[in-house]
Amino acid sequence: MKIIYLDHASACPLDQRVLAFGRKYLEDTFGNPSSLYSTGLEAKTAIESARQKVAGFINAEDEKSIIFTSGATESSNLAIRGTALRNMAKGQEIVASAIEHISVFNPMKELQKQGFKLTIIPVDHYGHIDLRELEKAVSPETIVTSVMYANNEIGTIQPIREISEIVHRKGIYFHVDACAAAGHIPIDVQSDGIDLLSLSSNALYGPQGVGALYIKPGVKIQTIMPGGGQERGLRSGTENIFGIAAMGEAARIAKEDMEKDRQNDLKIRDELIRGILKVEDSYLTGHPVERLPHHASFRFARIEGESILLSMDMFNIQIATGSACSSQTLEASRVLLAIGLKHEEAHGSMVITLGRQNREEEVAPTVEAVKNTVAKLRMLSPL
Ligand code: PMP
Repeated sequence: MKIIYLDHASACPLDQRVLAFGRKYLEDTFGNPSSLYSTGLEAKTAIESARQKVAGFINAEDEKSIIFTSGATESSNLAIRGTALRNMAKGQEIVASAIEHISVFNPMKELQKQGFKLTIIPVDHYGHIDLRELEKAVSPETIVTSVMYANNEIGTIQPIREISEIVHRKGIYFHVDACAAAGHIPIDVQSDGIDLLSLSSNALYGPQGVGALYIKPGVKIQTIMPGGGQERGLRSGTENIFGIAAMGEAARIAKEDMEKDRQNDLKIRDELIRGILKVEDSYLTGHPVERLPHHASFRFARIEGESILLSMDMFNIQIATGSACSSQTLEASRVLLAIGLKHEEAHGSMVITLGRQNREEEVAPTVEAVKNTVAKLRMLSPL
């Protein structure tokens, strides 16, 4: 039976166009981009071309502002720890929203252990950051503030420009994790007022294990990975030529196809939301309108997210619960607690993230499987 895959926030399949483009870099281009002979230059050219494509994807000032990494986790580590350590003389304060991904939250926590003051900004019931609290929290001693473009668990899109204005009025760097948003809504680092932006290749249907960090020209940052000095000295290590070339092409395609993908997603998403909310005691999580076009997230009273996931899998439908990256922990989602849900409410969540391959015909079987799953689990539930 065909699998209905609805968890693109966790992983996207490699786009066949990206594979076709990148194949030659796996099969033929083996040179080290730092070597000066032609085989090396060929590899270097592939990287520089990808850099241009990624810069174009987010309207960066120039391609030099893009640093390739192993993924969004490394990008955010470099952005946060790299600016904090480089600018320590100015102050030792850092700020993040309460619903940041663990790849932002944990580097912030590490800095806190090293003596930095970490302030967490609360969010409202929809997941929008409290702008007044942000205004109060940032001080001349703050070095970097991190707020994600949109949240991977509840789909809510942040008012990035307003946040940027507040942060920049105080002369602080603004880092944005754009992993969940990239490819789904337009990102323009210049008009959005972003200083540092983390991207992941796989979220754009590129290969896994590759990412990029945008660094606005003039931002003072230091490496967290010293070595051979690749990537402007900010990220040492021989470059992943296939991964980088493929990420560039994935970014180019994502920009070109964004509107087409959005139209496909919106039709399916809205039908899914309509169908699933007919289930008794079910609720949409996140903002009903200011949310990502491919994102539908719910909670169901009196049942457990992990059981929902496993039961849906028996219907050959793959969905997520809480954060895919930490769902092994079985802890209540930090994001759902931050939007004000009680522990028992935060446990019964289901996250659907659509992708290029999804079609309207998949809505009816999905809604049916959710109805059956919820009815079955509620019968078994001690609650
Ligand atoms: N930020 C968000 C919002 C994510 O969903 C993820 C995981 N997909 C990451 C960061 C980390 O990305 P990676 O695993 O590529 O480092």
